[in-house]
Amino acid sequence: MTFDYRARLDATRRLMETHGIGALLASVGADLPYLIGYEAMPLERLTMLVVTGNRVPVLLVPKLEAPRVVERPEVFEVRPWSETEDPIGIVSRLLEGVGSVVVGDQTWATFVLALEERLPATRFGVASPLTRALRMRKDPEELDALRRAGHATDRVAARLREMRFSGRTEAELSRLVADMIIEEGHQAATFSIVASGPNGASPHHEAGERIMQTGDAVVVDFGGKLDGYCSDTTRMFHVGEPTTEYREIFAVLEEAQAAAVDAVRPGVAAQDVDRTARAIIAAAGYGEYFIHRTGHGIGLDAHEHPYIVEGNDFELDAGMTFSIEPGIYLPGRFGMRIEDIVAVSDHGVERLNCSDRHLAVVG
Ligand code: ZN
Ligand code: ZN
Ligand code: ZN
Repeated sequence: MTFDYRARLDATRRLMETHGIGALLASVGADLPYLIGYEAMPLERLTMLVVTGNRVPVLLVPKLEAPRVVERPEVFEVRPWSETEDPIGIVSRLLEGVGSVVVGDQTWATFVLALEERLPATRFGVASPLTRALRMRKDPEELDALRRAGHATDRVAARLREMRFSGRTEAELSRLVADMIIEEGHQAATFSIVASGPNGASPHHEAGERIMQTGDAVVVDFGGKLDGYCSDTTRMFHVGEPTTEYREIFAVLEEAQAAAVDAVRPGVAAQDVDRTARAIIAAAGYGEYFIHRTGHGIGLDAHEHPYIVEGNDFELDAGMTFSIEPGIYLPGRFGMRIEDIVAVSDHGVERLNCSDRHLAVVG
């Protein structure tokens, strides 16, 4: 998989110029792989890409990590630093005369504070307002990676429908899901939530030693990374036949999720997608049990812009990818969530998850 890093850096520089930003620093986090295809190890030794207006971007990297860098001399220069050098000093010199710098949001505070001390006349800000404008709109290669990641989780979801849940602990099923995420083509399994019975009412429940049994609703929410891009899907399972009440509430959720997906198209405000799902759940009397936003952007990061949430009047645009994942959580009893990743297309929406989203009755 190759991406056009040159074009991304050029676009970054144009945005920097428009906003009067002299330099962008990318370290830990997804801005760095987005810009040059390299991911910093989140360690105490500094890795940092310095992008300025007038020279080839420089990647400072600890000497011992330099062999990991795929060199792209037409895109950036590599500057390995040895154990006895001062990397903050090197960055400071590259920033001489620059008035305004933006720094990747996840850059370690130790580095940012040291730079601020070294460059008292320079203004520092966060990079995300600038980089998200680029990263939100996926190019065709990124969409392809997200599609393949989505379809890999779809195959896991299909396999889950055939599996036995009862008698297994949540943790055991969670490990099996993680294995299947890899088997179906991801390089990494990032998370696999299995929340059974009353645990399902906690949206980010950590799979534990609870043994699943007949009568349990089970939320399975999982994802991984494929060629750097994230997947994230949730499907609902029920051990044995559910009650009529459960079926009725689940029908409300299915309707809300489908309506929210259908509401997605260019020009629609993010919050209107949230409102679409919320209105249906509220009308059925479960509004207070839908305790989180409808969705989050996804790409190199599992959670990124745009956020599908009340108060975000940002207009959706072609190439944006995010989750649609309304849920209903009844404390002490059960929870339910349906989650698909979608991509805004030129005139509507494409689902990147296509597995069966009906409630699966399992043994
Ligand atoms: Zn979540
Ligand atoms: Zn999820
Ligand atoms: Zn999600």
